[in-house]
Amino acid sequence: MLGEFEGEGAYSRLKAALNALMPEVYKCYDAFVAAVLATGPERVACSKGCSHCCSHYVTSVEPYELLFLHGRIRVAPEYPSRVMALHRRATLFSTLQDGKPDDQAEDRALYRYYLRNVPCPFLAGDGQCGVYDSRPMSCRMFFSMSHPSLCKGKSVIDPGNRNFLIELPEDIEADLARAGAAFARYSLPESLFEGLLKVNESFGQFDSK
Ligand code: SF4
Ligand code: SF4
Repeated sequence: MLGEFEGEGAYSRLKAALNALMPEVYKCYDAFVAAVLATGPERVACSKGCSHCCSHYVTSVEPYELLFLHGRIRVAPEYPSRVMALHRRATLFSTLQDGKPDDQAEDRALYRYYLRNVPCPFLAGDGQCGVYDSRPMSCRMFFSMSHPSLCKGKSVIDPGNRNFLIELPEDIEADLARAGAAFARYSLPESLFEGLLKVNESFGQFDSK
């Protein structure tokens, strides 16, 4: 499937294909999310500039999302400083693992990370996402029905917190996972920060446009 993206110029061709495809994918995804939200009896508490949730360590990002987002950020003048910021966050997250081998190990590290209140490197000063059109689905699916103050720090485990995710139907999730598996050769981590660092390591230096 990815044969045409091998050899010389492969990254540029891949980037062009993702630039053509991903805006449509996200448009469909956003339409689905909007339709689901419209069926609910309450409005979500989320609004432009509200951004406590942008201190999460973003996970479950598909490889094609990482490659697409990297293609967008790679051309920005602040790219080198963004890479450094991604690196600091990935390093911090790695120090927060407690080494206990059980199913909740990652959740504990994610919670510890969230308590550090380290905003995403793409969060702009006005509280808005600096890569809004290219942000991954993990960011697009996260909402709250409770007051934004309950999204902050330890309040995320308050019984009154009503954060929730809008999941896609299982068959579509399976299709997206299959599409992701086609990118296995790149061995990209599922976390936003580590994933982008790996893409940078593999392709960052090849694209100076
Ligand atoms: S999830 Fe919470 S912090 Fe994020 S936008 Fe919604 S209300 Fe604000
Ligand atoms: S990519 Fe954007 S929406 Fe996602 S955590 Fe970062 S600033 Fe927030």
